[in-house]
Amino acid sequence: MPIAGSYLATFYNDEVKTWDVVIVGGGIIGLSLALSLRKQGAAVLVVERHEPGGEASHAAAGMLAHCDPHTPEKLRTLAMASAQLYPEFVHELQDESGKQVDLRREGSIILDGDGCSLCPDAQPLDAQQVSKLEPCLADAAGTAEFWPEGSVDPRALTSAALKAAKHRGIEIASGVPVTEIQVSDGRARGVRTARTHFPAAVVVNCAGAWAGQIRGASSFPTRPVKGQMLSVIAPRRDFLRHVVRGPGAYLVPRSDGRILIGATLEEAGFDKRTDANTIQRLHQAAANLAPDLGQARMLEAWAGLRPGTPDNLPILGETSLPGYFVAAGHFRDGILLAPVTALLMTQVVRGARPEFDISAFSARRFQN
Ligand SMILES: Cc1cc2nc3c(=O)[nH]c(=O)nc-3n(C[C@H](O)[C@H](O)[C@H](O)COP(=O)(O)OP(=O)(O)OC[C@H]3O[C@@H](n4cnc5c(N)ncnc54)[C@H](O)[C@@H]3O)c2cc1C
Repeated sequence: MPIAGSYLATFYNDEVKTWDVVIVGGGIIGLSLALSLRKQGAAVLVVERHEPGGEASHAAAGMLAHCDPHTPEKLRTLAMASAQLYPEFVHELQDESGKQVDLRREGSIILDGDGCSLCPDAQPLDAQQVSKLEPCLADAAGTAEFWPEGSVDPRALTSAALKAAKHRGIEIASGVPVTEIQVSDGRARGVRTARTHFPAAVVVNCAGAWAGQIRGASSFPTRPVKGQMLSVIAPRRDFLRHVVRGPGAYLVPRSDGRILIGATLEEAGFDKRTDANTIQRLHQAAANLAPDLGQARMLEAWAGLRPGTPDNLPILGETSLPGYFVAAGHFRDGILLAPVTALLMTQVVRGARPEFDISAFSARRFQN
C-alpha cells in the first residue's frame, strides 16, 4: 500500500507545496532512506539543520563490523543483512553519483578478541600469520583472528548519496532546523521550522543524536556518545591493508594512503571538541600496534556524536502518532546499517510488512 495520498508533489496554492515524505536529518540514514523512497516513486524532501552529511556520518571510521560479537544480539540479523546489501548499495551510489566511496573488502585482523566472531568463516591467526598479513604490526602476543569484514569512506559515501539524491530529484533544504512535528486530526502533517513549515503525508525523524530534541507526539531517548579520532599519512605505500582492531585503538586504512585511528567512547553531551592529550594517547596506542605509525604525520583530528540509546539498539518504525516515523539511534553501526535501514523503513512507510522483524526496535519500547 503506497504512502497516503499521491506520489507526486503538488502545489495546493501558488506558494505551498506538499511532499509525500519529509525526512528530518541529512546524515547517511536520512539520505539512504530518501533514495530508497524516491526509487518507489515518492516525492521526498530532506530537511537538514546544517549541511547534509556533516555530523556523525562525517566522523565515522567506516568499519562494516558485522562479525563483531559486541553487536547486541537483537541487532545481529540486521547487521548481517546490511553487510550483504553493501556491495549493491555502493555500486548504485557510485553509479548514480560518479563518485568512488572506497569500499574495501580486505578483512579485519582482531588482536584484542574477547569473544567469538559472528561470522562462521572467521579464521584464527598465529603470530607468524599476522606478521605475514601485516608486516607493519608489532609482534603479536596471544591469539588473533581474521574476520571477513569490509570498510568504506563514510565522507565519500555520504557525499555520493547526496549527489545521487539530487540527481534523482530529491529536494534538500539545508541550514533549516526542524523544531517540531506538525500534528492535526491525530496525525503528522509535516514539520515546522522557525520560519516556515513543510507539509507532508509522512515524516521520518532521522536526526541522529538530536532525534529526541524535535518536539512531537513522541520523544525518543537518543543521546550523543562522543568519539574522538585522528588520521595520519601512512609511512609508505601499502603500509596497511586490513582493518586492525587492537587494544586501545583500531586502525582503518583508506586507499588514498590515509590511516584512521580511533576512537574514544565518551559521555560528554553535545561537546564535539577534541582534546590534545586524548588524541596523543590514541596515536600512541596506534604506534603500539604498528610502531612506524609513531612518526606518521597527523592530518586531522576530530570528534563526532554517535546516536546512542538506552539499550544500544536503534529506534525504527512508526511512532504512536500516525504518519510519524523514526530511524535513529544507530550508535556505533550506522554506516553499516544504512542499507538495511533504508530497505526496512521504506517497507514500513509504504505500509508493507518489513522483511525482518523490527518490533525490538520500536519507539514504543520506551513508553510506559
Ligand atoms: C568517531 C565515530 C566513529 C564511528 N565509526 C563507525 C564505524 O566504523 N562504522 C559504523 O557503522 N558506524 C560508525 N559510527 C557511527 C555512525 O557514524 C552513526 O551511527 C551514523 O553516522 C548515524 O547516522 P545518522 O544519519 O543517523 O546521524 P548523523 O550523521 O548525525 O545525521 C543526523 C543529521 O540530522 C541533522 N539534524 C539534527 N537535528 C536536526 C533538526 N532539528 N532539523 C534538521 N536536521 C537536524 C544533523 O545536523 C545531522 O546532519 C561512528 C561514529 C563516530 C562518532
